[in-house]
Amino acid sequence: MSTVADAFATRHGAAPTGVWFAPGRVNLIGEHTDYNDGFVLPFALPHRAVVAAAPAAGGRSRVRSVQEPGAPVEFSAASVVPGEVPGWAAYVAGTCWAFREAGYPVGEVELELDSDVPVGAGLSSSAAVECAVGVALAGLAGADVDPTTLARIARRAENEFVGAPTGGMDQMASMHGRAGRLVFLDTRGDTVELVPFDLPAHDLELLVVDTRAPHAHASGEYGARRADCEAAAAALGVPALRDAGPDDLPRIADERIRRRARHIVTENARVVETVRLLSGGADPRAIGPLLDASHTSMRDDFEITVPHVDVAVEAARDGGATGARMTGGGFGGCVIALVEADGAAAVTASVREAFAQRGWAEPVVFPGTPSDGAGRLA
Ligand code: ADP
Ligand code: MG
Repeated sequence: MSTVADAFATRHGAAPTGVWFAPGRVNLIGEHTDYNDGFVLPFALPHRAVVAAAPAAGGRSRVRSVQEPGAPVEFSAASVVPGEVPGWAAYVAGTCWAFREAGYPVGEVELELDSDVPVGAGLSSSAAVECAVGVALAGLAGADVDPTTLARIARRAENEFVGAPTGGMDQMASMHGRAGRLVFLDTRGDTVELVPFDLPAHDLELLVVDTRAPHAHASGEYGARRADCEAAAAALGVPALRDAGPDDLPRIADERIRRRARHIVTENARVVETVRLLSGGADPRAIGPLLDASHTSMRDDFEITVPHVDVAVEAARDGGATGARMTGGGFGGCVIALVEADGAAAVTASVREAFAQRGWAEPVVFPGTPSDGAGRLA
C-alpha cells in the first residue's frame, strides 16, 4: 500500500510527510452490548485504510480517496465545524474537527486515502478512515496521543460530525488491535485487555463471510434497539443493562423489551465466558457453542438477523463449522465461522452452495486474521 505514497508524490511533486494506517475490525462476540455499557471482543483485520499526509500550503485542506474518484474535497481543517462537509469526506473533516476540539493543534493538510476495507459490509471501513486520519493528524502535530484518546476522537467524528449514533467499539478495535490478539473492551470506562487468539497453533481458522445482503432499514432498526434497551434499563431502575442479571428479567413486563434485555444480559455473559476460556489457555474450539448461542439470541431475542445471514450461519454449521454467528450491527453484513483449517474449503463450499440454490449473489469469504491496530507505515 505504498501506492498511496507514490500517488501523493506524483500529484504534489514531493513525498508525503508520512503514511499512516488503521484497520477495519470484526467482532468475535458481544453484539449491541457497547451502548449498554457492556463488553465486546473484536479484533483488527489485515484490511486497512492508509493515508499519506503532509501539511498544506494556503488556507485549505484537501482530501482524495482512491475509492471516491473525482475532484478532491476541500475544507479548512483549522476551522471546519459539523454540517460543513457532507458525504464521505465528513469522516475525514470530522476527525480534524474532533482532534481540534480535543485541544490538539490542527493545521491545513493534504491527504491521499486508500482502503481495502470493504465498505458497508459491517467491517467498519468508517472507523478505519477516521482512525487512520487521527493517527496521521497526531503524527503531523508531533503529538503523542494515546490510542484510547484517538479512538474517542474518531468516535466523536462519527457521532457528531457524520451523525451516526454508534458505540465506541469500532474505533477502539482499530486503535488497540494486535496480531494474534482479541481486544476485550469494557465499554464502561473504555478499559482494554488483549486476549490471546492463536488459531494457527490449534489448526483453526476464523472465516469471515460477507453475505452482501442488501442492507434494509439498518439505521432505523438500530435506533429502535437502542430505545428498547433504554426502556429495559428504565423498567429495571438500573443505569444501563450492563447492571442487570438474568434474575432481573422477569421484572420487565413488556414481552418484547424483556427479550431485548435478555439478549444483552446473556450476550455480556457470553463475552465474559469467551474471555475466561481463551485467557485460561483453553482450546478455542470451546467457544463454538458460545458463538452459536449468540447467533440464536440475535435472531430470536434481538431480532437483528435477516435470511442471508441466517442461511450463511446454518450452511457454515452444516459444512462442519465449530461455531458460527452473525457479526456486526445486523440487517445484513457478515457472518463469522470458527472452522478446522483443513475444513475451511468445505465450509466455504457449503455457504456458496446454499446461496446459489436461492439465486443470491455469491458471498465473499476470507480468513479473519487478528492483526495490528493503527500506526505509522512510513
Ligand atoms: P462500514 O460498516 O463499512 O463502516 P459505514 O456506513 O459506517 O459502513 O461507513 C461507510 C462509509 O464510510 C462510506 O459510505 C464512505 O462514506 C466512508 N468510507 C469508508 N471507506 C472509505 C474510503 N476508502 N474512501 C472514502 N470514504 C470511505
Ligand atoms: Mg461504520
